[in-house]
Amino acid sequence: MSHIIIIGSGAAGLMSARMLSEKNHSVTILEARDRIGGRIHKLTEKFSRPVETGAEFIHGDQSLTLALLREANGEAMKVQGNYYTLNKGELEQGDFMDDQWGELTQALNTLTTDTDMASFLDRHFRGDTYQDLRNRVQRFAEGFDTADIHRVSALALREEWSGTDEEHQYHVRDGYSTLMQYLAEKVKKAGGTILLSSPVHEIEWREGHVKVTTDSGRSIEGDNVIVTVPLGVLQKGTIRFTPDLPQHRTAFQAMGFGGVIKFLFEFNEPFWEDHASRKLKNLAFLFSDADIPTWWTQLPDQTPLLTGWFGGPRTFNAHHQTGDLFAKAIASLQYIFKLTPAEIESRIRHWHIADWTQDPFTHGAYGYTTVETSSALALVTKPIQDTLYFAGEAMYEGPSMGTVEAALTSGKEVANKIM
Ligand SMILES: Cc1cc2nc3c(=O)[nH]c(=O)nc-3n(C[C@H](O)[C@H](O)[C@H](O)COP(=O)(O)OP(=O)(O)OC[C@H]3O[C@@H](n4cnc5c(N)ncnc54)[C@H](O)[C@@H]3O)c2cc1C
Repeated sequence: MSHIIIIGSGAAGLMSARMLSEKNHSVTILEARDRIGGRIHKLTEKFSRPVETGAEFIHGDQSLTLALLREANGEAMKVQGNYYTLNKGELEQGDFMDDQWGELTQALNTLTTDTDMASFLDRHFRGDTYQDLRNRVQRFAEGFDTADIHRVSALALREEWSGTDEEHQYHVRDGYSTLMQYLAEKVKKAGGTILLSSPVHEIEWREGHVKVTTDSGRSIEGDNVIVTVPLGVLQKGTIRFTPDLPQHRTAFQAMGFGGVIKFLFEFNEPFWEDHASRKLKNLAFLFSDADIPTWWTQLPDQTPLLTGWFGGPRTFNAHHQTGDLFAKAIASLQYIFKLTPAEIESRIRHWHIADWTQDPFTHGAYGYTTVETSSALALVTKPIQDTLYFAGEAMYEGPSMGTVEAALTSGKEVANKIM
């Protein structure tokens, strides 16, 4: 059986490692961080319950994730509570899918040739009447998809948004890390090796042979390599391929990889229920036009935690300092709840800001579909001389782009190709 080197111990790397090691392949995972899980990570210190700095929700009935969760004795809890929208100071219950959003859906349904979302809006929704709609489309594409509307595929958004259904969002009890620990145990039990703190900087390869070198100068040789590092890392060119893969480099740049900064604020009580000037009873999600626009609670879990979400190209624009980000978050909460900064700050018990754009092993958050993604994917998901394979959340074609489901599916597909 062959020796397979897997770079990265996120959902994709662990999924492929589990399948291959259980089929008696010799598997070595090289992971840059001192922990497994990649973009799945929970903070167990400080907060009164573990909080997710990365992936948190199961978006809909994602079969592979839910099956794995059942196998790992985990539990998915349906998101409960009310959805609110705050626009120009006006609060409404419900999401922002109003009549104009209906017009948008209709126009998208007539689209036959793909284009980026900005061009689509420009063609169909010009003028002052639609300014508000354009803003909301941009906020949603940036927030949910982390996408740049000048690059994101309108056809892909159409497909994704037609499936949006808040009834089927789940939290994972005890966090997504349960799945990662479970997979890692399976890998080890089947004889696989996971080497932490081993950032890879070079992959030398020829048909049937690879030599992978880490920053410490350690080299490991094998028959195949599966590269599961985030697309952001591939776009940065942190890992050198020898011989070079120029077409792949171009393809990585053609694909979309957005940024997210996540804000975790635990308060001494859920003040939004009663003690804010603007009450948000039974709050599940709030979509707003604040600087940090989206906030949610943990309902049905009662922990008084508000999670803020800031996504899209603006997350990369400046070198955000933690202090500036904190101030932005407070200003946003001040606008949302009509409280003074002092009234908000005095209620904060613990806080943490997870800026994934500055993370050297991610360089962003997750992938989105550009107009060019489909042709780029056809290239990068094709094995190179049955020796070099790419996998991971962004190396996936289907309705769940940018999710744990996409990463698990991609890991499974690449393992099947090798087997
Ligand atoms: C803030 C945030 C929120 C999210 N929310 C959700 C959500 O609610 N629901 C959902 O389904 N998905 C969510 N996602 C997306 C989800 O986390 C990812 O799609 C998924 O975890 C990616 O798994 P992966 O294995 O492809 O990549 P990763 O988990 O990133 O794994 C890649 C691994 O490669 C390692 N690596 C990088 N460079 C090197 C190197 N040079 N050498 C060795 N190792 C290296 C990394 O350290 C990492 O461990 C979120 C992501 C972010 C950032």
